[in-house]
Amino acid sequence: MKTKSRNNIFRKSTSPQPEKRKKGVLFIVSAPSGAGKTTLCMRIIKTVDNLKMSVSFTTRQPRFGEVNDLDYTFISKQEFQSMIKRKEFVEWAEVHGNLYGTSRKRLNNLLNAGFDVLLDIDTQGAGQIKESCREGVFIFILPPSMKILRERLENRKSNTKEDMEKRLKNALKEIKNYNRYDYVIINSDLKLSVKMLEAVIISERLRSIKIDKNHIKRILI
Ligand code: 5GP
Repeated sequence: MKTKSRNNIFRKSTSPQPEKRKKGVLFIVSAPSGAGKTTLCMRIIKTVDNLKMSVSFTTRQPRFGEVNDLDYTFISKQEFQSMIKRKEFVEWAEVHGNLYGTSRKRLNNLLNAGFDVLLDIDTQGAGQIKESCREGVFIFILPPSMKILRERLENRKSNTKEDMEKRLKNALKEIKNYNRYDYVIINSDLKLSVKMLEAVIISERLRSIKIDKNHIKRILI
């Protein structure tokens, strides 16, 4: 990365987190398709230490270049339904005609290991996490305008026209849910949005309630 010095600031200031905290913090990031959320999440994973993304399960077909178990775990509808029955998802939803879900086991393994976890999920899934009373920090990414959102979706050669119209229609519905989130980032400039997201993550890590009391005891010895 070009911004080596800035990275170092974040790495040094946050690296003792696993010793300080018992369990990781859950960050839920939602946005309408085309708002730039996935790019933003990919960047943040590289710049902030101790932060992991949970790999979701989906029935969607892999796009060109996507790797199984890295971008998603690609499964059949039947396998997905069986996982629902076995209650293996903390949340799941049908998005743009495909099923997506977060594995309870994968998420808990990461959080219990002390990692902070970023979930890149839609507004329905975020709502389910909120209702389940899981502690989490809810972040919503907005496009600067609907015109720009349409342009971004048009530039995605992998989407059919029909799929694009579906995503735009869903975007209007999703944006109305923005006030159910703790933070809103308007993604007009990627670099700036990365900084804002980093700021949210670092601030949440520093909440006194999230510090392991044993760490404070060790300071007092
Ligand atoms: P895409 O097909 O473009 O990768 O993702 C479509 C939408 O599904 C995005 O809004 C993405 O955040 C959402 N999504 C991805 N994984 C999950 C998941 O595990 N649960 C839910 N509810 N939505 C997901």
